[in-house]
Amino acid sequence: MHRLQDPRRNPGEAIRRLNAQSRSPGRYIGRFAPSPTGPLHLGSLVAALASYLDARAADGSWLLRMEDLDPPREPAGAADTILRQLDGLGLRWDGPVLYQSTRLEAYAAILQELREAGHCFACDCSRARVRALGSVYDGHCRGRGLPPGGDAAMRLRTRPGVFGMDDRIQGWFEQELESAVGDFVLRRRDGLFAYQLAVVADDAMQQVNQVVRGVDLLDSTPRQLYLQALLGYPAPRYAHFPVLLNAQGRKLSKQHFAAPVDASAPEPLLRIALEFLRHSPPTELAGPGEVLDWAVANWDILRIPARHGIPASRFE
Ligand code: GLU
Ligand code: ZN
Repeated sequence: MHRLQDPRRNPGEAIRRLNAQSRSPGRYIGRFAPSPTGPLHLGSLVAALASYLDARAADGSWLLRMEDLDPPREPAGAADTILRQLDGLGLRWDGPVLYQSTRLEAYAAILQELREAGHCFACDCSRARVRALGSVYDGHCRGRGLPPGGDAAMRLRTRPGVFGMDDRIQGWFEQELESAVGDFVLRRRDGLFAYQLAVVADDAMQQVNQVVRGVDLLDSTPRQLYLQALLGYPAPRYAHFPVLLNAQGRKLSKQHFAAPVDASAPEPLLRIALEFLRHSPPTELAGPGEVLDWAVANWDILRIPARHGIPASRFE
């Protein structure tokens, strides 16, 4: 099994791994993967823009994937609104949009493969029980042999060992999955597939080799590395940028009523998002197209600070 090690403990391994990464074959394939739980707000615009610029600056492709796996949380029309907002901002994606709602059979097949290899088990623990454990699952149902389906979730069994990666912005990040997360859910009790399974399935299917996304997903990455290793998929490189924080110090999100971006005035929005990403287009540029072209030509992901959050109030 592919188990990455902390370069502080094993510098030779780190150098070998970095060399392997810089030789990573093929063109850059990146993506933006919004969940259509509402229109884009400033935080998700930053995610769209950072992934777009990193891909275009590398002359790569930028795919768009709608992570519409949770219908009760997706207001009608939200996915179309996101497409219109991206279009209005001048962020053009390559190829057709992939909707995760069309991929359920593929997720079921992957889950079956993992089950047959003995990596999964059914679990009927309540959310309250898992919450009481501090949300680190204790393996309670591992040996119970519950039948799959019905009201049971399907969990992936974790094993001792560290999964880590060298993030392009945040540097080395690792987790001991078994003690930090515990066996995690791949299919929920309500039958919906979990984000971790779908994202790994689709990044592999779409041959995504570079992921640029918010740091709120940093601690999902070791779970994704573990799944990739079990399934024999190559791991992309990752870059996690800091997220915008609201006045309460929480991530700006649709749940916290961040205002939707108004794509009818794209230039000031792009300038704010670029400022957050530490890029300052000259004021004499006119129009969103020129600002975007400048940003592609001048993109340097290493200007983004290796921090986890930046208050949004600085950009208002
Ligand atoms: N759909 C996820 C979100 O909107 C992002 C998934 C990803 O970039 O891996 O938070
Ligand atoms: Zn359980």
